[in-house]
Amino acid sequence: RAAGRAETATTTTTCGYCGVGCALDVHTDNAGVVSVTPTHGAPVNRGHACVKGRFAHGFLRSGDRLTQPLIRSAGRGSPLRPATWEEALTLVAAELTRIRDAHGGQAIGMICSARATNEENYLAQKFARTMLRTNNIDNCSRLCHAPTAAGLGASFGFAGGTNSFDDLDRADCILLVGANPTEAHPVVGSRIMARVTAGARLLVVDPRRTALAEVADVHLRGRPGSNVAVFNGLARVLLEEGYADRAYLEARTTGLAELEAVLHDHNPERVGEIAGIPADSVRAAARLFGRAAHPVIVYGLGVTEHLHGTDGVRTLANLALLRGTVGTPDGCGVLPLRGQNNVQGASDMGALPDVLPGYQKVAEAAVRERFSHAWGVPVPERPGLRIPAMFGAALTGDLRALYVIGEDLLTSDPDAGHVRAALAACEFVISQDIFLSRTAEAADVVFPAAAFLEKDGTFVNFERRFQRVRAAVAPPPGVRSDFDILHALITAMGGDPGFPDPAGAMSECARLTPVFGGISHGRLDAEGSLQWPCPDRGHPGTPTLYLEGFATVDRRAALAARPYLPPGETPDAEYPFVLVTGRRLAHYNTGSMTRRTPNAELLPAETLDLAPGDAAALGLSEGDPVEIRSRRGHLVLPARPTAEVAPGQLFTAFHFPEAPTNELTSRHTDEITDCPEYKVTAVALRRA
Ligand code: SF4
Repeated sequence: RAAGRAETATTTTTCGYCGVGCALDVHTDNAGVVSVTPTHGAPVNRGHACVKGRFAHGFLRSGDRLTQPLIRSAGRGSPLRPATWEEALTLVAAELTRIRDAHGGQAIGMICSARATNEENYLAQKFARTMLRTNNIDNCSRLCHAPTAAGLGASFGFAGGTNSFDDLDRADCILLVGANPTEAHPVVGSRIMARVTAGARLLVVDPRRTALAEVADVHLRGRPGSNVAVFNGLARVLLEEGYADRAYLEARTTGLAELEAVLHDHNPERVGEIAGIPADSVRAAARLFGRAAHPVIVYGLGVTEHLHGTDGVRTLANLALLRGTVGTPDGCGVLPLRGQNNVQGASDMGALPDVLPGYQKVAEAAVRERFSHAWGVPVPERPGLRIPAMFGAALTGDLRALYVIGEDLLTSDPDAGHVRAALAACEFVISQDIFLSRTAEAADVVFPAAAFLEKDGTFVNFERRFQRVRAAVAPPPGVRSDFDILHALITAMGGDPGFPDPAGAMSECARLTPVFGGISHGRLDAEGSLQWPCPDRGHPGTPTLYLEGFATVDRRAALAARPYLPPGETPDAEYPFVLVTGRRLAHYNTGSMTRRTPNAELLPAETLDLAPGDAAALGLSEGDPVEIRSRRGHLVLPARPTAEVAPGQLFTAFHFPEAPTNELTSRHTDEITDCPEYKVTAVALRRA
């Protein structure tokens, strides 16, 4: 609570940090936010919230908020200067129109934001497809959970988690993979800890000894990049030792023979060699998972951000299918922990190059026809470019303009040097953000945007749950929401947005998207939340997917037969360490919001975490500067010796622009989705 202030109003909204989607009561007075408390009785967080949702709101009134559009009056090389909204909108409308008309819509790319609301993402993809005439639209799920959408979609049908957070309450065995929810999704982390305290078994697959790994029954501490081998090893034991539900597999899945053929090469001994873990630990974990009545799988970016991330998701999904825990009333299913507040929703809204809202495929003529008819403009037939391909096209001159909403590409995307070159190669770059990020500094036009506590709309959380976002405070004078900026830009380019406000956007989206057909702001205000699919106004939503069959052509789930393949980089004599990047408790992603709050006192700077033995071998003590060098770049961080990190491995986060971790990371991406391999970078160390 801000000292000496008393609230005069309370607004219930949804947290704008991680993908758990906690409901928050925001208490305000005339000067702004006084305090934030978790909403009692909310279905997701049940009166809990973490250090980010509760306390990290002071950035709203930070003195360095962007409050005016910025433009370069004399082109590249000239400084950014304040401009009126009319001046900036006119310039952007003219430049995008010029480039589209001269070079076609394929010459323009748009990157949407998982921080923005569903309605803003819906409007952005409509803007790209109808005004820019391109499917070159993507969002930052490309950098995190694109393999979840592809993998769960291919295995089960829908690009989302199968069950609800509440199902954790009946889980008697939790398989937690590649996730540290205690820090990145704290409300989930504490719910898992509560289950363990109540007697549930916990199995952790993670190279780091996280807080939950400390209390696990089995911790499979495999080498980064060995997930597929570990999941195949677990699957083999489940099948060999009679823990698989053969009747379920026969009735509801395909691909068992092919899977068994691949598992022939994945006995626990071989898996142990690949992953660097004891074969008996693989057997012990499989037996606990196999004997459980209600096992649940919870996973994070340690599964997806790999060269074979989609294979990782699919071979992990195999384990749930082998136990018959997906699409059954008492099954607990598979829960992917989405990183950002609305990363599920940004993809659900069609801010992707190959699908329209609700994952309706651009390649299908009937789908294009329906949207083209509704929008009065033909939807482009050719699927668009993903984010990494946009950078490549910029460097070849095929992409000339890039419009970036709410993402600091130069801090969050891998191989920052490559991104820098791609931005420099574009003729025209637009950045829409709340602060002057490194990417905004490189742009030709910067639009000042509102933050989540200043906006109206909806988010979708990690369990497919739509919840309302309500403006608790007005944005600073001169600042507009992403919705209002896009709305004005469409008008400036001579188009018709089709609706006046976010509620209208949701109504149009629901009319055109069968799985969201019953979702509206009115229903959400009355009922609190709805989990998709929700096809009509009388439908109660779907907490558990696939009770009546999988959403595949043959109504069966597809087991995946995928062998282990090595990561893109492996340590060698020149680069002998493996760097893993991730998140920390006090901060969020590029830190643009949390670093401008008292959370900065909890973690004022980044460190390089390394095993105590490795630190001793290099003569490093706590705080000593250490230079980390990869094939792409280098940076210096203070050493933090800790047993959380295994020998030969390193860990750091990407919350601080002054410690630009992504100068080091590689351009290796998941073969199916182009998600970067943030979890495996070969590096060398020396005392700086
Ligand atoms: Fe916000 Fe996630 Fe923390 Fe909940 S757990 S308060 S959604 S950051």
